[in-house]
Amino acid sequence: MGIIVQKFGGSSVADTEKLLLVCEHIIKEYKKNNKVVVVVSAQGKTTDRLISEEKEVTSSPSTREHDVLLSVGEQITISKLAMLLNRLGYNAISYTGWQVPIKTDDIYGNANIIDINTEKILKQLSNNNIVIVAGFQGITKNGDITTLGRGGSDTTAVALAAYLEADKLYIYTDVDGVYSDDPHNNTNAIKYKTISYDKMLEMAKNGAKVLHSKCVEMAKKYNIPITVKSTFVENEGTIVK
Ligand code: ADP
Ligand code: ASP
Ligand code: MG
Repeated sequence: MGIIVQKFGGSSVADTEKLLLVCEHIIKEYKKNNKVVVVVSAQGKTTDRLISEEKEVTSSPSTREHDVLLSVGEQITISKLAMLLNRLGYNAISYTGWQVPIKTDDIYGNANIIDINTEKILKQLSNNNIVIVAGFQGITKNGDITTLGRGGSDTTAVALAAYLEADKLYIYTDVDGVYSDDPHNNTNAIKYKTISYDKMLEMAKNGAKVLHSKCVEMAKKYNIPITVKSTFVENEGTIVK
């Protein structure tokens, strides 16, 4: 029993059927008497679609408005996931980044988390509610919405695990762990059982999008092991530590 943070990426939450599978992973942890905090990304290609729609409007958006638009995707996912959990008979509540609040600097489009107020989340957990938090977004001290850079939901998950002093952090995705190369491009890639923060950081910086590089930096700073697992296949995954 303890605080568990589970993060599910875009392909894991792409449609209602997949969201129901995500619910199963959440309920499994909740039934073990864990306090469960869930971080989710926008569904499927939603963020890419928002960027295309933005291009229809302007080729030079204000960076502030760009983040207001891009943050929308995750808000859809958190509400749907909370509704599904409610429908299945579980108490769940969703929070956007600014409702938590997850405070960031004002580097729009690539903001850095500088503080998280955990009060609301801890109160909900103590009432046995499952807490669903929107990844990829935060709020500046002036009350403006920010986003954390593409793939940034991973960083939200690590930051929450750090500020909540979580016992476990799982990043669920569409591959069953971290490989020596992108397993979708290289069938000879080998899966790691464990990988060091530094090696993972090097891979992330070289484009291995399985983990956001800022999330690896933060995990290293706070010494938080990350278990990367598949949403769709039941096996051990990779521990980044
Ligand atoms: P999510 O939507 O769950 O955040 P991402 O698409 O951001 O998932 O990251 C998962 C993808 O990362 C995989 O589908 C895979 O193609 C890619 N990837 C690139 N390099 C690696 C690697 N070394 N190990 C595992 N996956 C990798
Ligand atoms: N939805 C955002 C993106 O597509 C954040 C994330 O998926 O982690 O980049
Ligand atoms: Mg990702």
